[in-house]
This record gives sequence, structure tokens and C-alpha cells, in this order.
Amino acid sequence: MTPRNPLIIGAGPAGLTAGLELVSRGVMPRIYEASAHVGGLARTPSDGAWRVDPGGHRFFTRHEEIMDLWKSLLPHDEWIVVPRRSAMLVDRHFVPYPLKGRDLLMQLGFGTGLRGASNFMWSRFRRGLRAIDRPQTFRQWGIEEFGRHWYQMFFDGYVRKTWLADPDHLSSDWANQRIKPIDWRRPSRGHPADQDVFRYPRCGPGQLWDAAAAALTNSGVPLSLNSRIEAIRHDGQNWTIQLQDGNTASGDALFSSMPLQLLVHMLEPTPPKHIRAIAATLRHRAVITVAVALKKHYDIPFNWVYTPGPEFRVGRIQNYGNWSEALAPEGFTGTHLGFEYFTLPHDDLWVAGDEGLGSIVESDLQALGFDNSELEHVMIVRSQHAYPIYDPGRERNVVRIRDFLRLNHPTLHPIGRNGMHRYDNQDHAMLSALHSVARYFGENADPWQVNTDLGYHESGILRS
Ligand SMILES: Cc1cc2nc3c(=O)[nH]c(=O)nc-3n(C[C@H](O)[C@H](O)[C@H](O)COP(=O)(O)OP(=O)(O)OC[C@H]3O[C@@H](n4cnc5c(N)ncnc54)[C@H](O)[C@@H]3O)c2cc1C
Repeated sequence: MTPRNPLIIGAGPAGLTAGLELVSRGVMPRIYEASAHVGGLARTPSDGAWRVDPGGHRFFTRHEEIMDLWKSLLPHDEWIVVPRRSAMLVDRHFVPYPLKGRDLLMQLGFGTGLRGASNFMWSRFRRGLRAIDRPQTFRQWGIEEFGRHWYQMFFDGYVRKTWLADPDHLSSDWANQRIKPIDWRRPSRGHPADQDVFRYPRCGPGQLWDAAAAALTNSGVPLSLNSRIEAIRHDGQNWTIQLQDGNTASGDALFSSMPLQLLVHMLEPTPPKHIRAIAATLRHRAVITVAVALKKHYDIPFNWVYTPGPEFRVGRIQNYGNWSEALAPEGFTGTHLGFEYFTLPHDDLWVAGDEGLGSIVESDLQALGFDNSELEHVMIVRSQHAYPIYDPGRERNVVRIRDFLRLNHPTLHPIGRNGMHRYDNQDHAMLSALHSVARYFGENADPWQVNTDLGYHESGILRS
């Protein structure tokens, strides 16, 4: 029998989870990470006692096995429970999000409320009249779900700014999972377990992934940082990966969380031309998070503020003080914000350099009415492969690559968000890793079935 000596590309949530699962099944993998840190997109960059969460990573899941894994990695008192309080900043009003019927009708003035409500009822009436097909584009979906007026007010500009695409050119796939419908219920004082809350590692998401990496190295798993994989060969039996420095490593299976198009591009023997051409169409959006600490305290009762309007370049703002106090030095009494700028690799923002970004942030601070003369600390974090782009061809293209790899390379396991080119949160990236490891052991598991449920995903189980 061939010895089990699998290789893992990437030490983000998917790669580390694959590592933990392999170890728990008695197999010792080797992990190679291109960057100098673990955690991937869910890392927590720091500068002294300042910490930045580059996503704003809410921890929620419907999957017990993921919750158990999270709990096993960090002690109980390192987890905090944070109420989810998001808002959309529209016409200088913070409109709480997910949208509530009551706020839509009252907060923005009677005329606006009435117009929104009549548009909304019209779209519902049309939906009810005919057995319509699933909307194909984001714009169709948005108008059908919210009515033209509220769609335009809250989502059209936001999607243009964050997805950098015309809503007519975006598929509606992810919208059902990510955007909650309007809540028309009367506000109630329900049971705390029904509240919209999420879990959070006290020192940011990377705290969890640092703990996972520590557990792996304590078990003897070699985890190499600064080890970018640049070539991948299969000789019919084993995989050999080549690192940036020319070193190589071989194993019986390969778990890859690197972007799927780069994986196909690196593969030897070279995949057929049409597969390479399909892979080349898979694209990503990048995000630049600029964490700004202001000496002055501004009372913003939300942890997340969306800024759809054209008066801001920023797409979304994190209010880190409402995530965890441990993201700022002890005793900090000012305002710690994370400005998220969505961009494409190589566009003006991505190549702007720190100075160029500085002036953009300054004008956003001014547009928000903040005094930017009293900056205490600034940190810039760039995440290049932040969002797999969902254009209308994505689903079909990914399936064709999947089928090609399955047929020709059954011991190659693409895992995680970019590894499978899917809009996965941490829990789904982790699940795809668990299912891939099960498959490696010959079990009938299918990682590609993870995160295919089209219903709303943004909630999960909360247990103490
Ligand atoms: C703005 C934003 C907000 C988010 N909010 C949430 C949230 O609220 N809740 C939530 O659960 N999730 C959230 N996510 C998603 C979460 O970050 C991802 O689901 C998770 O990080 C995916 O893990 P992964 O291991 O699949 O990929 P990644 O985190 O991308 O890790 C992949 C790793 O592979 C490495 N790698 C790539 N190429 C190579 C190579 N050639 N050689 C070696 N290593 C390589 C990378 O450096 C990286 O470390 C958010 C993401 C973003 C961008």
C-alpha cells in the first residue's frame, strides 16, 4: 500500500482544517503557506496592541462539527458573543440592516416610505401573478425582492461599488444566501438565543487560526511559511510541488486552497487548452482595509456600516470597538474604524500606494463628518484574492474544471473559498476540507456539495 503522506497548499482555514482532520485520522501532512502568516483571509494583522480584522469575520455556522472544532481550539473565555448591529448609511441616516419594514416606512420620511412600499407591493404582486423563473441577475433579484425604489436606494450602488460590476452582469446565486429579506414583524423582546448575535475570538479571527497552527505543530506537522508553491506535477502516482526557492516535496495526495485558476495554470501534465481557457476566466476582487484610529470618540452603535452612496469611495466601515475591545490597546477611548475599499488587482486603488490611499481615506472621513486631524494610528491590509467573482459563467466553468480534475486527478483535492472559487465563509471552507479528507479515505463525501443551499445563510447556531 502507498504510504499516506499528503501535501497541503495554504494555511488558511481550509488548509489548517484539512491538516487537523488528517492528524485526527492518524496521518501526518505537510503544509506550505505562501505568506508569512497563517489564517489566510481570516488572519489578524497586528502592530503592537493594534489589531485589524480584514474582513470583519463573524463566526456563525449551522454545522455542529464546525462549532465543535472552533470550541476545541480556543478556550471558552477567549470567545465573546457579539450582537450583530449593521446599518446602511443613506441620506445621512443610519438605517439598521437587515432591513426592517418599520424603519423603511418611518426613518427616511413619509414620501420615501410610501414610494418604497408601493414599489415593493407591486413587485410582490407581479411575483405572485406568474410562476416566474428564478431571477438570473442580481438586479432582477433585487428588484423582485425589495421593489425598485428600495433596491435602488440600498443595493444597486453598494453592489456596483463592492462588486465593481453592473448588477445586470452579476449572477443572483449568492444574493439569496447573503441578503436577508425585509423583516416585517413587529419588534419583540425575544429569547436571547433568537437575537442576531455571532461569536468572535477576543483578539480577532486570526487568534483561532494561530491556535490551529499551534495544535498542528505540537502534533509534529511541518508547517512552512513563506513557501509559495510555483509548480505542481503529477507523475501518475505521486504529486511533486515546487517551492519558490526551488525546493520540492512529494506526496500521495494534494489538498489545494490556492486559487483554482492558478492551480490549473501550474498543473503538469498541462490540462487541455479549453480547461486552461476556462480557468483563465475565473477572477477575483481584492479588498484593502485601512484601519484608522481616531483620538475622538464617536458614538456609532453599529459594528458594520455599509456606505452605498457615491459621496464615499469606501464601501463598508467596520467599527472595531463594537467587535472586540481587544482590537485596540488597553485604555483606548477613541474610535477604531476599518475602511474597506473593494478593488480589482492592478486597478488604480490597488496600485495607489499608501500615500494615495491616505488622501482617499481623508476625504471619506470628511464626507462622514469626522475630524481627521487627530489620527492616532493607521494600518493598511491588502487582501488580493478576497472575493471570487460570480459572473454568469462561473458556475458552469467551475463545474467543468471540477469534472476534469476529478476524472484525471482523483488524488487532487481543491478545497476552500478560492480553491473551489466559491463565496465560502470560514465554516464552508472548513467543511469542504473535512469532506475532502473523508474522500481521501475512500468515504462517499462530496466537498462540492457544500454551500450549494440557495437559502439564507447568514445565521447559525449559537451555543454557550
Ligand atoms: C472582506 C471579507 C469578509 C469576510 N467575512 C466573513 C465572515 O463574516 N465570516 C466568515 O466566516 N467568513 C468571512 N469571510 C470569508 C473567510 O475569510 C474565508 O471563508 C476563509 O478565509 C477561507 O479560507 P480558505 O482557507 O479557503 O482561504 P484563504 O483564507 O484564502 O487561505 C488560503 C491560503 O492559501 C495561501 N496560498 C495561496 N496561494 C498559494 C501558493 N501558491 N502557495 C502556498 N500558499 C498559497 C494563501 O496565502 C492563504 O493563506 C470574509 C472574507 C472577506 C474577504
